[in-house]
Amino acid sequence: MSNSQDLAARSRAAVWHPCTQMARLAQVPPLPIARGEGPWLFDTDGRRYFDANSSWWVNLFGHSDKGLHDAIKAQLDTLPHVMLAGCTHEPAVRLAERLSARTGGALGHAFFGSDGASAVEIALKQSFHSWKNRGQTNKREFVCLKNSYHGETLGALSVTDVQVFRDAYDPLLMRAHIVASPDARLANEAGALEAMRTLLAERHDSIACVIVEPLIQGAAGMVMYSPAYLKGLRELTREFGVHLIADEIAVGCGRTGTFFAWEQSGADWPDFILLSKGITGGTLPLSLVLTTEAVFGAFWSEDVTRGFLHSHSYTGNPLACAAANAVLDRFDAGQLEDNRAQASALTRAFAALAPRVKHLRQRGMILAFDVPEAPPRFAERFHLAARAHELLIRPIGSTVYLMPPYLIDDATAAWLADAVSKTLNDVLA
Ligand SMILES: *Cc1c(COP(=O)(O)O)cnc(C)c1O
Repeated sequence: MSNSQDLAARSRAAVWHPCTQMARLAQVPPLPIARGEGPWLFDTDGRRYFDANSSWWVNLFGHSDKGLHDAIKAQLDTLPHVMLAGCTHEPAVRLAERLSARTGGALGHAFFGSDGASAVEIALKQSFHSWKNRGQTNKREFVCLKNSYHGETLGALSVTDVQVFRDAYDPLLMRAHIVASPDARLANEAGALEAMRTLLAERHDSIACVIVEPLIQGAAGMVMYSPAYLKGLRELTREFGVHLIADEIAVGCGRTGTFFAWEQSGADWPDFILLSKGITGGTLPLSLVLTTEAVFGAFWSEDVTRGFLHSHSYTGNPLACAAANAVLDRFDAGQLEDNRAQASALTRAFAALAPRVKHLRQRGMILAFDVPEAPPRFAERFHLAARAHELLIRPIGSTVYLMPPYLIDDATAAWLADAVSKTLNDVLA
C-alpha cells in the first residue's frame, strides 16, 4: 500500500470528515496532503494539485507564504495566547484599529470570534441585545435571503437557506424570514428589493436585523448580484430601523476587487461587518465582528447584564491576530491593484469556455459557471476527474467555480482554463 492509500484508509476509520457522506469515501478517498507551496498542494506520494478553491476560500497568498509564517513565528516566541477578558495585547488592538480605519472609523468596535459561524452568532446576539437594551424587546426576528449561507451552528443555520445543510435540522431552528434573492440570473433585483420592502414595512417592529452576503452568495453556488441591490437594502433597513449585517466571511479581504465587498455598493456602511476565512490568509482560525458606535453604545452601562457577556476560549488569539496583521500589510502594500491584473488574466483565459457553459460570471477573484445537463453526481465526478489534471476543485451542484489564491498570472490562468476544459471533456463525454 502506498503512503497515500494508507493514510486515506486510516482517515476513513478515525476521522469524521466535514461536509461528507462518509459512506462515499471508498469511491472518493480523501487526498492525503503532506505539504503546500504557493497554489500547490502535494500528497504523500509527491503528486501535486492546484488549490483552485483556496482550501475552502481561506487561503489568500498561497501555501507556506513566508511573510505570514514569519509573523506567526515571531508571535509564537513572544506570546502564543492570553485570554482577552481582563487582559489585552498589541496584535488584537492593532488589528481592530486597522480594520476600523478601513471603514473610516464607521465600524470602530471589533469583537473577536474563532470561526465564521461564531461571528454570525455574535452579530445576531448583539443586534437583538442592543435593541433590547434600548427597550425594544420585541425586535427579535431575523431576515436572510433565499439561498443564503451563514454557517452551520444552530443560530447561523437558522439564517441559512441551503437545503442540504438545513433540512435535517429544520425542527431545531429559529424561524427566520427568507426573502427573494437578487440573483442576477433571475433578473429580478427590483422584485427582490420590493419583497424586502413589503416584509420590513409589515414587521419592522419585530425585526432585529437583515443578514446578507454582499455581492456573492457563495455556498449557494457563487450566485452573483448587483452592488445596487446593497444600496437599496441599506436604504430600506435605515428607513425601517432594522440592523444590516454584511457577512463578508467569504467575500472580504479583497476577493471581489475591494477590501470589503461592501465598498462597491456606494452606500454608507452596514451596522455590522463579519470577517473570517481569508483574514489570516488561511493559516489560523479567527473571526471578527465589526460594529458601530450606536450598537456598542447600547451595551454601555454600570449594569453587568446589559453588557455583551459572550466569549470563546481562544477569543482574539495573538497568533491569529499576528497573521491577520500580516495579511493587512499586504493590502497596505497594494494587493488590490495586483488582484485587478490577476482577475483580468482569469477573464481572458476562461472566455473561450463561454459557448460550452451557462452563466459564465466573475467578480474579482471568483469565477463561476453552470454546466447545462450535468450528469448525476456531477460535483463528485468533476472533482475526481480534475484530480487527474492536477486540479483540486469542488463544484457546488452543477456550478463549477474557481476561487484561487492571489497568485494568478496569464500562464497560470491559461493552465487553469485548460485543466477545467479537459475535466469537462472527461465528465461530459
Ligand atoms: C464559510 C462561511 C461562514 C461560516 O464560516 P465557518 O468558519 O465555516 O464557520 C459564514 N458565512 C459565509 C458567507 C461563509 O462563506
